[in-house]
Amino acid sequence: MNLILMGLPGAGKGTQAEQIVENYNIPHISTGDMFRAAMSEGTELGLKAKSFMDQGQLVPDEVTIGIVRERLGKDDCKKGFLLDGFPRTVAQAEALEVMLSDLERTLDYVLHIHVDQSLLLDRLTGRRICKNCGATYHLIFNPPANEGVCDKCGGELYQRADDNAETVGNRLEVNTKQMKPLLDFYQAKGYLRTIDGEQEIDQVYVNIDELLKGLNK
Ligand SMILES: [Zn+2]
Repeated sequence: MNLILMGLPGAGKGTQAEQIVENYNIPHISTGDMFRAAMSEGTELGLKAKSFMDQGQLVPDEVTIGIVRERLGKDDCKKGFLLDGFPRTVAQAEALEVMLSDLERTLDYVLHIHVDQSLLLDRLTGRRICKNCGATYHLIFNPPANEGVCDKCGGELYQRADDNAETVGNRLEVNTKQMKPLLDFYQAKGYLRTIDGEQEIDQVYVNIDELLKGLNK
């Protein structure tokens, strides 16, 4: 079961990834975790990646691809894997094809959890924090009883600068533009499966599970 998980921030990738890896017993390979592991193990590629990150620079493709290659070659990936955060570009996707063909494997599905951008904006800008006690709320998922007031201590609620509509909107825009060519690439190859991420979280997983059950037959 060789899978890639894609979706914009706030689409619920993390929650779905947890369920998939638990039920199908395959490793969740996120770029962040992979980098941290390579760095803490002090592999040559890990150290290279670290030197770029320490300087605040982007890790070049060849290093990222090398780290993914090492990770996919490990024993726990023999039964499959769930890639998350890689590939980010068509060049990386092409490198992944080569890697998998070297390992005599192919992708099964690219699962794309789709949620409309305007809905994501509401999800991602809804967080409010108490100035006094630090309690967190969410206007949609966990609203305070009285608007703008902390249930626990009566303190004033505020929105973090990172959570404002403009910052979040820009981030979504950048991610959407980055993802589009990848979605087209995998669509053309026949791997892409788009999941409606606007449903209840449990129903989203039911849809994913229906696809994955078909693979295990
Ligand atoms: Zn409070």
